[in-house]
Amino acid sequence: MTPIAILVIDDESANLEVIETILMTYDGKWNGSRPYQLHYASDGQMALDQLAICKPDLILLDVMMPGMDGIEVCQRIKAMPQWQTVPIIITTALTQKRDLAMCLAAGADDFISKPLSGIELTARVQSMLRIRDQQQRLEAFNTQLEAKVQERTAELRRLIVQDTLTGLPSRNGLVETLSAKLEAGETSLALIFLDCDNFQLVNSSLGYGVGNQFLVAIAERLDRHRQSGDFLARVGEDKFCLLRPGAATLADIEPLIDTLQSCFDQPFAVKELEIYASACVGVVLGNNQSQEAEVLLQAADTATYYAKKRGKGTVQIFDWSMHQAVFNRLTLENDLQRALERQEFITYYQPIVDLKTQQIAGVEALVRWRHPERGIVSPNEFIPCMETTGLVVPVGMLVLQQACEQLKRWHQQGHPHLTMSVNLSVRQFACPNLVADIDRVLTQTGIAPTYLRLEITESAIMDNADAAIAVTQELRSRGIQISIDDFGTGYSSLGYLHRFPVNTLKIDRSFIAQMEDNGSDYPVVDSIITLSQKLKLSVIAEGIETIQQLERLKELGCEYGQGYFFSRPLPAEELTQLFNYSKKAVEGISTPLPIRCATEISILTKPRHWLRADKPQLT
Ligand code: C2E
Ligand code: MG
Ligand code: MG
Repeated sequence: MTPIAILVIDDESANLEVIETILMTYDGKWNGSRPYQLHYASDGQMALDQLAICKPDLILLDVMMPGMDGIEVCQRIKAMPQWQTVPIIITTALTQKRDLAMCLAAGADDFISKPLSGIELTARVQSMLRIRDQQQRLEAFNTQLEAKVQERTAELRRLIVQDTLTGLPSRNGLVETLSAKLEAGETSLALIFLDCDNFQLVNSSLGYGVGNQFLVAIAERLDRHRQSGDFLARVGEDKFCLLRPGAATLADIEPLIDTLQSCFDQPFAVKELEIYASACVGVVLGNNQSQEAEVLLQAADTATYYAKKRGKGTVQIFDWSMHQAVFNRLTLENDLQRALERQEFITYYQPIVDLKTQQIAGVEALVRWRHPERGIVSPNEFIPCMETTGLVVPVGMLVLQQACEQLKRWHQQGHPHLTMSVNLSVRQFACPNLVADIDRVLTQTGIAPTYLRLEITESAIMDNADAAIAVTQELRSRGIQISIDDFGTGYSSLGYLHRFPVNTLKIDRSFIAQMEDNGSDYPVVDSIITLSQKLKLSVIAEGIETIQQLERLKELGCEYGQGYFFSRPLPAEELTQLFNYSKKAVEGISTPLPIRCATEISILTKPRHWLRADKPQLT
């Protein structure tokens, strides 16, 4: 048991004996367990020198001493951080309140007047030791607490900068390291970003357990190629990034890119399975354009996104135009979502003409975005984006709804034979609710299914041919008609046409545009028309712009046509005026076309009789 060290500072050594006698008389132990050990200093300087040796738990200090008096000694001790918590009891013959106040002001914790009373001294010593003991316990508790906090902070930091699954540094870890390098002016560096091509498939088909082991196996392989100075991190679910300092040009890192990609050459053995994988690589070279780690990392990610678009296992070097493109893309995605909420999507209609009679047989519904600042925006600008986000599904249903409502109006206004063609995107076509949604719109609008023609592209069919055949059969069984849009631009195999219950082929306008360039030889258009005749399908030529194209198509036996030569896509009201005008023209009543309509369509330069909306429906 370590004794309680008490330092007695008094110029009269007899006082030490008095104190010793008193403390020993009253059992000589504090709390009945720790014995007292007294140390003595006869002046202030000796006391200061002794502190480090005797390490007192308590000091009994006389005030009146030659040289340095007790007040000064007290001030000096309390000024030293390592001793300032040691309680000091002043022993003094002074009893004036002013003197006592001075002692307290100097930092003394208590005082006791001389001559010393045994009971009082013992009581005050014990009370001070109790306070000191509590203080020490508190300090020890604080130290423990601080250690725990530090330990937890370190653990938390480890979690933040380290990936728990693979043990590699995390994205945050990479950002920290990269930031430090950039701040130190190290701009010659490369980030090589790897994004696994088939991870989702592994996860969904083999389960998360296998998925996790697969990621660990990838991390181990990549880590084998890390050289000293390299920093490899797992920066996303199936994304890894290697930082190579000192790389200034692409040539510096080409071998490394090859090596990293070769990690995927051999299959990964996970739970007795062999998993084949590949990764797309995005590369960004540090330069003076950006000093921010996050920006560089984002750039590498963007490059990988572009690589992914090009196909599995490809490499893409970042350039700054990509950044803008991705930013624009994200802005577009948000704007489109808002446009749907604000009902900014409207439908235009383009006539489909019977080439023999030059009468309007039907119309195609084409979506437009009425942008508050840009005006009417073409679907080519936003359909691909909506296709990726899935927004094409609700917008496509909106178009179908608007188109069927409009068709009903036209039927009621005296054009009962018109058909309505509506485009279906790949995503819509794969939607499980498609048939039910179409049924609902037809019932709501009261349109007979035979007046509805759905246009799908070859890729929608070929992406999942069996499912597509089943959906198409469902639709055909209701009497809904099916066209293959942009025919000739997709798969060259024509085999699927036998299996696929379609009614119509729409020749892509790129083939019609080539007709004039090729003189009298139109092999593609000719072949498609012949094929459709053999398969007993009707055929529509898209994008007719000139009288020559029209004449040639008629010679080749093409039944229907669509294009600017007849009319651009128009809002419903303008097309209604056109229908009414052509109807009156047919009936022999001469009515001038409304001015806007006349400037937007080519009717004034064509024989008027071709625009009749009273032809029996397209079959
Ligand atoms: P598409 O279905 O092949 O529609 C024909 C496109 O050719 C329309 O472009 C039309 O305005 C244009 N066009 C018609 N005649 C001519 C011509 O003589 N010359 C030229 N240069 N172009 C002509 P638009 O309206 O810009 O639509 C582009 C594509 O966007 C459509 O091609 C279709 O694939 C898609 N799209 C339009 N509306 C919808 C929709 O509601 N849903 C879905 N999923 N896709 C749509
Ligand atoms: Mg179309
Ligand atoms: Mg088309």
